[in-house]
Amino acid sequence: MSTYDNFTIEIDGDGIALVTWDMPDRSMNVFTQDVVDEVDRIVDDTTANDAVKGVVVTSGKKTFSGGADLKSLETLLGTFKKMRSELGEEAAMSQLFDGSRRMSQIWRKLETCGKPWVSAINGTCMGGAFELSLACHGRVIVDDDKARVGLPEVKVGLFPGAGGTQRVMRMTEPQGGLMMLMQGQHLKPAKAKSMKLVDQVVPAAELIPAAKKMILDGLKPVQPWDQKGFKAPGGRIHSPAGYQFWPAATALYRKMTYDNYPAARAILKSVHDGLQLPMDLALQVESRQFAHILQTPEAAAMIRSLFVNMQDLNKGARRPAGVPESNLRKVGILGAGFMGAGVAYVTAMAGLEVVLLDRDIEAAEKGKAHSDILISGRIKKGRATEAQKEDLLNRIKPTADYADLAGCDLVIEAVFEDRDIKATVTRATEAVLGEDAIYASNTSTLPITSLAEASARPDKFIGIHFFSPVDKMMLVEIIMGGKTQDKALAVALDYVRAIRKTPIVVNDSRGFYTSRVVGTYINEGHAMLAEGVPAAMIENVAKMAGMPVGPLSLNDEVAVDLSWKIIQATAKDMGDAYVQRPQDKLIQTMVEDLGRLGRKNGKGFYDYPEGGKKHIWPGLADLVGVEQDADEIDIEELKHRFLAIQALETARCFEEAVLTDVREGDVGSILGFGFAPYSGGTLSYIDGMGTAKFVALCEDLAAKYGDRFKPNRQLVELAQAGETYYGKFPPEGAVEAAA
Ligand code: NAD
Repeated sequence: MSTYDNFTIEIDGDGIALVTWDMPDRSMNVFTQDVVDEVDRIVDDTTANDAVKGVVVTSGKKTFSGGADLKSLETLLGTFKKMRSELGEEAAMSQLFDGSRRMSQIWRKLETCGKPWVSAINGTCMGGAFELSLACHGRVIVDDDKARVGLPEVKVGLFPGAGGTQRVMRMTEPQGGLMMLMQGQHLKPAKAKSMKLVDQVVPAAELIPAAKKMILDGLKPVQPWDQKGFKAPGGRIHSPAGYQFWPAATALYRKMTYDNYPAARAILKSVHDGLQLPMDLALQVESRQFAHILQTPEAAAMIRSLFVNMQDLNKGARRPAGVPESNLRKVGILGAGFMGAGVAYVTAMAGLEVVLLDRDIEAAEKGKAHSDILISGRIKKGRATEAQKEDLLNRIKPTADYADLAGCDLVIEAVFEDRDIKATVTRATEAVLGEDAIYASNTSTLPITSLAEASARPDKFIGIHFFSPVDKMMLVEIIMGGKTQDKALAVALDYVRAIRKTPIVVNDSRGFYTSRVVGTYINEGHAMLAEGVPAAMIENVAKMAGMPVGPLSLNDEVAVDLSWKIIQATAKDMGDAYVQRPQDKLIQTMVEDLGRLGRKNGKGFYDYPEGGKKHIWPGLADLVGVEQDADEIDIEELKHRFLAIQALETARCFEEAVLTDVREGDVGSILGFGFAPYSGGTLSYIDGMGTAKFVALCEDLAAKYGDRFKPNRQLVELAQAGETYYGKFPPEGAVEAAA
């Protein structure tokens, strides 16, 4: 038998070939062109070798495999675009179709080779690797709480194109299968077994013996769907049960996606059509959908932003070169309130020692109790142990004494949003801090440069802006003050990496990047309300555009009185130049006369009945006083307004160098405030539409709704030159695939 670079093969006395996937120079197994070529050869070699009675495939790494290397997929898309321009659409398409279905065909060859294959899944097994396992005749998985299987492709705009859609739906009941595919769910071993997607869950030591035993016990090398009389668990599509299920499935798809995600739609279509066909034809249907999806702007944009860009940022793309890795051990947190308590938890979870300081020990203890609540919740779900809880809580020292901050490598301030209080705690902290320690503020609105005026060492003063809830939100916005130096940035980035979140680095500005853009979204909701667009329509259309929550709902979460404060501050700053807007009065009345402050006091744009579901405040329409006829409102225009105003504000941030890297604009907008993920983020939204078309849209909206839609100079110049953001400002090492 020939030798392989990425696999080893050992044939035992029973004639069972153990194929171990173990890529040299990589910590994880991933599918590359070479790996796929070698699997192809292994299937041929083991089939041709009479000494082999059956095959067990496993991994030599800690986990099985994370699936495909999406970076190489991005390159494939780049090649496709190039070929299309050189050879024409048809030739390029046929290449893409053949290339993209290669795995599917090899997995099918394995499934029909006549010898039994069993996948011994020793840890997490995702994407193409799980599809390979599904093509095997048996699957055994390790009984490990950390192991997961799944087909998560839909999360980056793709779908499982190597037989996953067809095999899952032939193995499990249709509702669970479809949800797993359309949501890209990760399944624990026990769940995968209950869904019949694996046959056995066994302790690690028994994994290979159990897989071999399946073969020795006479595992049939023919899949159920290749046997006469096979019926999928959900029955036939054209049957009474099918007529009940499929219309409901389509409705559910619409509810989940608002038809914004072509990949989810393609899953539904390929499952629906494929289930009516024998396997070989079904796989062809799936491949056609896959080749189509590969070319959608949504897939290209999502792969670029949610995989490539995010990975770049996580790996430290913005870390200044030449600053040695920081050895973070002890982090101080000032203020043990809502944010400080959350920051303490994620920091201690990362294994760092935490000093949590508040005005008195009771407040500090209360902040620490938050960690107890969160980890106890994890224990209940089986995700943590009592011993881990004890370790975690031992790492957090609550205090009211500044002396305890001595020896901290980094201090993060999260006290009240008050300039004087922040200045006082900065001075008190610096009095005990070591010379090299970095000081960060979690302020959401106060410019870092001005807060650093209270510091004796503004070069070591930086913004580390968390989002709430801290334990759930994956983004951290790092803000460079006017005098912040590289060392502070490097430490901040090392810290964000340690707590396993994604950083973006922005320059100082009112609201920085994320809050500034979110502000425009909320403001657009207010403007629509004042125009007489029904509140329910505002909220629903925002979700149709791809936003996770409506602007009114979001405003209730962040507090309506904060909006009123911002309106007043802007009016004060602009003086006579400020033009009163119809919504200003509305927000003032809500806050000052009616005390409707948002979720925090149970009444805002919504009412929050105790124990009941929130609903739009019935008095809102009367307060507004005008209501347009919903049937006369142009829904597409409302959607455009929501997305365009945010994209435009991002373009302004980019021109002002608040943002300096296009990747951060995109990733920050999706992770920070859920900007329509299918678009790839705010700048990809503009590039995807085309800068010229976007400028035309903004001009049109400006004529109707005011100067806030007026495109900025740099954007207009890009449009005139026929350029895109990614084309004109390519980040280091990025591939231009989505534009
Ligand atoms: P909070 O009121 O819940 O907590 C503030 C804590 O600071 C309180 O426990 C208070 O006792 C403590 N504190 C006040 N003065 C102090 C002093 N002199 N010394 C020590 N402790 C003191 O507020 P929060 O929502 O946690 O906000 C804290 C900071 O985080 C603010 O700057 C805010 O702008 C920012 N922030 C908040 C959010 C959010 O969603 N709430 C998001 C991002 C950033």
